[in-house]
Order: sequence, then C-alpha cells, then structure tokens
Amino acid sequence: MASDPAPASVIPAQAGISTDRHEIPACAGMTAGTVAARPAFASAPQTPFRRLSPHANAQVLNRVHAASEAVVLLDDVIRHQYRDGVALVSSFGADSAVLLHMIARIERTTPVLFLETGMLFAETLVYQRELASRLGLTDLRLIRPDPDDLAGDDPDGTLHRDNTDACCFIRKTLPLRRALAPYGAWITGRKRAQGASRAGLELFEEDRENGLLKVNPLAHWDGAMVRGYMAAHGLPPHPLVARGFPSIGCAPCTTQVRAGEDPRAGRWRDQAKEECGIHFDGEKWVRGPLSGGSFERP
Ligand code: SF4
Repeated sequence: MASDPAPASVIPAQAGISTDRHEIPACAGMTAGTVAARPAFASAPQTPFRRLSPHANAQVLNRVHAASEAVVLLDDVIRHQYRDGVALVSSFGADSAVLLHMIARIERTTPVLFLETGMLFAETLVYQRELASRLGLTDLRLIRPDPDDLAGDDPDGTLHRDNTDACCFIRKTLPLRRALAPYGAWITGRKRAQGASRAGLELFEEDRENGLLKVNPLAHWDGAMVRGYMAAHGLPPHPLVARGFPSIGCAPCTTQVRAGEDPRAGRWRDQAKEECGIHFDGEKWVRGPLSGGSFERP
C-alpha cells in the first residue's frame, strides 16, 4: 500500500478506497483526526466461501489472497466472507494499532475482543481505552476470566509463579473460547517474523480447537512494516515499546528484551513456554488438578 503523505493524524483516500470519513476525537497524548470509513476495495472477492469447512475455506482463501494487501484481505473477510461473523482478537500490545486501524477503516463496528486477564500492565489498559476511542471502534468487548475459575484455581493471583500453562488456561484460553463461540472466524496479529514457532504461519488457517477459521492478515509483515504503517498513519505506540518491550503480555510474564534478541524473548523468559495457549491449533490441553503442576499438554 502506498505511503500516506498527509498529516499524520489524517488518513487520506487511497486507490480504490472511498473518501467517506468519521471523526476521531482527541485523547490524552494523542491528536484528533479522521479515519476513512467504509472503504470499497475493487479487488476484493465478492463471492463468500463461508459454507465451506474452516479447513477448506483456509485453503481457498490462501490461494485467493496470496498476493492481497492486508487491508484488502481484511475487507473481504469482514464485509463479504464472514460478515457479522468475525471478530478481531487484540492484545492492544506493541503492534496492535495496525489491525485496529485497518478495521476502523473498513467497518468500525467489527467486534474487538480484548483479553483482560487481570494481570496486564496499567499502561496497556490506558492505551486500550485511548486507542479504541481515538479510532472510533464501537464494539470493544473486554473478555475476563470466569470468577469461579479464579476463586477455585487462583484465589490469590499467584498461579503464574508455579504453573504458567494453567494460569494462561483460565485467564486466556477458556475466556477466549467462550467469547469466540458466536463467530465463524477470528483475526489475529501474529507474524512469521515473531520467532521460529511462527515461521510457517499462513494467512488463513483452521483453528481446530475452536472449529473456526483463523485469519492472520499480517503473517508476512516484519517490524519495519509495522513501524512504517504506524508512522504513515500517525498511530501512537504502546508506551512500553520505548522502554524495551517489543512484545507485551501480562506484567508478571513479560520482561524487557535486549538488542539482538527475538522480539518475543521477554515473554515467559527462561521457560520453554512460547505461546499462551490460545494459538495451539489442533493440540489438546488436558486439565488436571492445578496444584502440583499436573496441568499438561500431551
Ligand atoms: S501470561 Fe502469565 S499472568 Fe498472564 S495468564 Fe499467562 S501465566 Fe498468567
């Protein structure tokens, strides 16, 4: 996509995108502006493939969108393939502003699911409120752990010290699974460049755990592309990025990253764990008694 030559807080019309706009209010530390609303991408496929299984749909859409720009792919998913049946799952982390901005341009009523684990940095909560307000997102849903799960398995909030898999399961995996139940597809911000475990990531994949299609529009993006997009569109960075956090999760499980390290090296540092569990496609988590570390993934 061409760079945006306009002032940072104003999103210009681009080829194939309408100039209809909605206003973005000013927030603390951010400037007011506008986002082009309801763009129309001439190249977006118009024939929905939704009746196919998630597995078949992923194969078809990977071929259809092999050369699509991320925003074109997203437009097709949100307005055609899965209209009223897709949600963006966002951590409001270091790179999240890119996809949030794209869906604000396409359809700002798209549901955004934010996993509020109860363990996030205070800076993330402030960033979430301000960025969502600035972009005019109208369907932000805070997804929280079940109080009964917390009372039963993590009453004092220290489970993460002994068993991060179990903690992620009750604070992320289970709440997200419940929240995704009404949808046919969900959108993530995962990228191949985020580490070896994501090197083979495709644009579309089957989420066998939830029986859904998973959409990764930024699979082929790297850090430079993210920074370029955010700069071109005047998107504010997460405040912790400047303090050495290129990947931001829960406060107890995220450390700063040194120069030359993998961007996700600060997540569960010194543990074999690389993912929180919401992206273990096709693998089953077996829930056992949480005491004694018996929670395991076969
Ligand atoms: S990242 Fe850490 S604190 Fe957050 S849910 Fe997982 S184990 Fe718990």
